[in-house]
Amino acid sequence: MTRYGGCAKSGRLHKSDQKSDAQAVLREYSPVKKTLYRTIGKAGKLAQTPIKEPETPQRLIVPLRQHSGPACAPAVQKGDAVAKGQVIGTAGNAYAADVFAPVSGTVADILEKHPTPFGEYSPAVVIEPGAGAEAAPTQGIKDFLLEDREKLWKIITGRGVVETGPSARPLRALLDPLMNLKTYDSLLIIGYDAEPMVCTNRRVASQFADQIGWGAALLRHLLGNPHTTLLVHQDDYKGVLRKLKDMNSIDVIDTPPVLYPDNLPLLMVKRHYGKEIPVGGDAADIGVAMVRAETVLAALEAVSQDKPLTEKVITVTGPGVYWPRMLRVPLGMRLGDVAEACGGLRVGVEFLVAGGPMTGWANYDRNAPVTRETDAVIALHGAASDIPDESPCINCGDCVSICPVNLQPNLLTRYCEFKLYENAQNIQSLDACVECGMCGYVCPARRPMLQFIRIAKLELKRQAELEAALCEIAARDPEEQTPEAEPAAFKPEAEQTADKTVAAAEAAPAQEASPEEKSAEAGAETPAQSEEKKTEQS
Ligand code: SF4
Ligand code: SF4
Repeated sequence: MTRYGGCAKSGRLHKSDQKSDAQAVLREYSPVKKTLYRTIGKAGKLAQTPIKEPETPQRLIVPLRQHSGPACAPAVQKGDAVAKGQVIGTAGNAYAADVFAPVSGTVADILEKHPTPFGEYSPAVVIEPGAGAEAAPTQGIKDFLLEDREKLWKIITGRGVVETGPSARPLRALLDPLMNLKTYDSLLIIGYDAEPMVCTNRRVASQFADQIGWGAALLRHLLGNPHTTLLVHQDDYKGVLRKLKDMNSIDVIDTPPVLYPDNLPLLMVKRHYGKEIPVGGDAADIGVAMVRAETVLAALEAVSQDKPLTEKVITVTGPGVYWPRMLRVPLGMRLGDVAEACGGLRVGVEFLVAGGPMTGWANYDRNAPVTRETDAVIALHGAASDIPDESPCINCGDCVSICPVNLQPNLLTRYCEFKLYENAQNIQSLDACVECGMCGYVCPARRPMLQFIRIAKLELKRQAELEAALCEIAARDPEEQTPEAEPAAFKPEAEQTADKTVAAAEAAPAQEASPEEKSAEAGAETPAQSEEKKTEQS
């Protein structure tokens, strides 16, 4: 198996021909491997089942932050009637996306802080479905390939389209060459899912293949006609090819038979195009616009149907749920309601994992809602859900062997554990870590490696934001700034002594004036003057 890795000295990713011993390590150490391998087999069957739409629950909690940028400002108030597709949160900048009502109904509450499934808090709008307000008429564009690009980008942005999945960057900020100043030779649509048990994009690519074809045409038009490739799972290849047989402008290829983490999209891009990606960069840095199948579908629906992004396709699976299903749910549906729509949870399920089993987040609170970032909801129970006790590193080197980008996770996480984030960054760039979670997965000491790395990245990002904010304040017009005491300029010692003398003289009380000076000040004659006068008179 060929692997691609990062070079600590040059700071660039490079290709190496090392043999991966990932499978050997997995066989030996993983306490949850049986559960995972059993359910990986089931994921194949699940990917063949049609996507269902569950009944709308009685309450939806819609977070106002479901994108990479800051939270939206609420655009509704408690008690307002809202229509499906109405804006309920307004984005503040290009890295945020408007949030829309997923159903018609009434705003039951505006929450200042509600947990998201990814360990954060966000303001949220609570909606109780009902008659609601009258929806505005929609007007999609059918001949979008003849439309002006700027107009199409505005529609996509105005309908809240983001890269669905963990990054959740607004599509325009991610791809528009005028915004990110990149040029593209290729458009790569990811129609599979890297993580085991998850089959969201795979199902979307196979069930909606013809729409994906039109969506690809839309993006190609927006990006200046780059070469377009749709990467699909091997088992879906023939079906997708059949549906797209009339579309000559799109190449359909099946994924090479590699296992996680070698099938992570970023590693696949390097494998497919044979180019190196700078550390911390993305596919756009090598001229590839990489986008997931579900995002392509959302962009097409926004333009052709004037439909905002209010739903999410998710994989609901795991041994803790009765009926594993593919669902298309309204954004804001609580994880507990999602589990109920799949027959409920088995006894002993303590938490639900949002995302894949390798990189997902454990949610003990089932009120956390589905967001644009949520690809899967996984219910584990039994041995697979045990949180192991962590122990010190035994320097076995397994994490180093399995890291797909050739980092030294043992070393990095030791720095991160003791909050020496900059040391970690200096020794091997944390940005090179693709957050696959394999290091923690194989670690016999059960160290939470991925968590250490994520916290370090977050802290470094916060520091960078803080420094940028301080620089911005310093660069403002001096008249706008609050006057502050100016630092004393450097002066040679002799000059300082002279200054001190002058200051002391000024500060000292005035010396008593002589009788002559006093009389002169009062306008009277001095004794010497009166003596002189007397002499003249005599
Ligand atoms: S999560 Fe661990 S194994 Fe995966 S890329 Fe990062 S350091 Fe390497
Ligand atoms: S961190 Fe874990 S896997 Fe890595 S060397 Fe230490 S004990 Fe081994």
